[in-house]
Parts: sequence; C-alpha cells; structure tokens
Amino acid sequence: MTRRKTRQIMVGGVAIGSDAHIPVQSMTNVPAHDFNGTVSQLLRLERAGCDIARIAVPKEEYAEIFTYAKEQGVKIPLVADIHFDYKIALAALKAGADKIRINPGNIGESWKVEEVATAAKSMGIPIRIGVNGGSLEESLLKKYGSPTAEAIAESALTQADVLEKFGFSDIVISIKSSDVCKMVQASELVAANSSYPLHLGVTEAGDAFSGLVKNAAGIGALLTHGIGDTIRVSLTADPVEEIRAGREILKSVGMWHRGGVNIISCPTCGRTKVDLISLVGKLREAVTDIDTKGKTVNVAVMGCVVNGPGEAREADFGIAGGDGFGVLFRRGVPEGRVEEDKIVETLVANVLEFVG
Ligand code: SF4
Repeated sequence: MTRRKTRQIMVGGVAIGSDAHIPVQSMTNVPAHDFNGTVSQLLRLERAGCDIARIAVPKEEYAEIFTYAKEQGVKIPLVADIHFDYKIALAALKAGADKIRINPGNIGESWKVEEVATAAKSMGIPIRIGVNGGSLEESLLKKYGSPTAEAIAESALTQADVLEKFGFSDIVISIKSSDVCKMVQASELVAANSSYPLHLGVTEAGDAFSGLVKNAAGIGALLTHGIGDTIRVSLTADPVEEIRAGREILKSVGMWHRGGVNIISCPTCGRTKVDLISLVGKLREAVTDIDTKGKTVNVAVMGCVVNGPGEAREADFGIAGGDGFGVLFRRGVPEGRVEEDKIVETLVANVLEFVG
C-alpha cells in the first residue's frame, strides 16, 4: 500500500502528512471553564498515547487554557476548536495553541478570516479546516439538494482556497460526517483534488462499540487505500477510549509504529474447554497500557488443538487451549502445561520479561 503524497505540516513537534507516522488525536470533554479538569484530562490523554489534543474554546477568555495547560506540564500539542468568532482564534494563537481548527464558512466576513490566517502564518501555526456534513453552507445545500459527498468536498476545497488567497497554505482538511460512506467518498474527492493532509474520522458515531465499528470501517477503508494523515475516533465515551480505539485501528492496518501487544485469539466454538472469552478480556486489560518500548509483541490465545498450536507457534507467546489448561508456546517452542487460572499472569509475565 502506497500512501498518498501530501504537503507536510507541523503541529508543535508532531508532523502530519506524507510519510510521517499517523498521529492519533482526541478532544477534551470537560466544561471549557474548568481549567484544572481540562489539564487533568489532557494529562490522562497524554499518558494513554494521545499525539494531539483539541480543546473547545467557546469564549475568548477561555483561550488562556493553552497557556495554563503548558504551565501545568502538558507536553502534547494542543488545538483550539473555534466556531463563529475570529477573536477567539486570535486569542488562542496568542495563548499558545499549536493549531487552530476553524470552519472559515462560519467565521463571517473575509477580513476576519484574513486576520486569523495572517496571525497564524506569522506564528507558523497550521489551520485545520473542519467541514461537517451537518453544518454545510446554505448555497451548497441548494446546489446539491442535500449534504452529499460532492457538496462536503466542495465546501472543504473552497474554504482552503479562501485561506490560500490570503497566502496561507499550512492547511489540514477534515471531512466529518456521521455517514461512513459519505465521509469516505468526500475524503476521496478531496484527496484526488488537492495535496492537503487529511484528518480522518466518522463523527457523531455513537458509543464506544458502535463508534469504533463505524470509524474502523470509514478510517480503515481510506487508510488501506493510502489516504489519511491523522485520525480521531469520535466516541460518546471517555476520550481516553478514543486513543485506544485509534491505536487499534492503526494496528489493524499495519500503520501503528509504537509497538504494543497484539492479541490473536480465536472466536471459540463447541471444542473450547477453557473460558477463552474471559481469559482474553483479562489479558486485554492487563496488557493495554504496557510500554513495550516500541516492540510489537504478538500473543495468541487459542481455544483448542485445531488451530491453536499453529497460531501459538507463530506468535511470540501463545496458548493452545486444552481441557481446563493451556499449552504455553514461547517463540515457537512448546513449554508445557499452564493451568487455566494461571494463563493470563503467565502470558503477562512473559511479555514483561520480553520487553525488559
Ligand atoms: Fe474452535 Fe479450536 Fe478454532 Fe478456537 S481454535 S475456534 S476452539 S476450532
């Protein structure tokens, strides 16, 4: 799979576009006035592996959160999410935001957009144009009859033109829609007609389960065709879950670069004689936050001897289930029987020993 060649922009120290690793993003959901709550959530996101975090800034006085968060030790780049008022964007730039997310279409007169573009350019700060199928310009809705993929793509490219007209080209485009197919088609149109890096995500996607499925379908489809430069998995859930979900999507398409534990497990069937579902759940919990120091550690947990030994042998560590026990494989070599209640701790101990 060849990735689409794009311009590359920098958000703080994080590159987006072309051959850069794909940053996983999230957004805080603490009330905007609660600076300490926001900082504490940002630090949790940072610990969970979030690369870039966005903060909604509905009032000018809340822009100070960028200065405050950095004073409190937040290190990941921070994005100001701005709607309607260009003065908030200017205040966020002044307060140290590393990127601004605006929709030039709802900022108003073009001189206001120009002021934001000029200030961002002078500070070397990129702008994300975020187009959402739910808030398209009236003129495009009239032209296309509804928020079609073509309408969404045209909105994004027109808004990029507006910034380009003001000499600003440090642009990332995001196409957001709650409709997976529309998000994919509109992103493909923008990709085919520009060289801007693309921020991918299915928005208003639902809870942790349905949101992950929709985002995996949409983001996954695009990534496997080389399109997409940064992702956010929007979930009605704790933002930390968005980071875990994003990491799993990148792992599933072979684009995760920081290692981690990759679990291979069978779906279980009438031959299974260990409680594999519970074992895999416990293993997932136990290994999710292990720092593997950049290594990918494959761990197979298989229900029986049909496919078990084969998968377990191929993995770094594996279990082929028996009746109330499993046979442990380490780097392809069978090492004997482990009782069912010791399987998770045995695998975790092996992973920890392996990563050092
Ligand atoms: Fe069933 Fe065994 Fe296959 Fe698991 S590995 S699904 S238990 S046949």
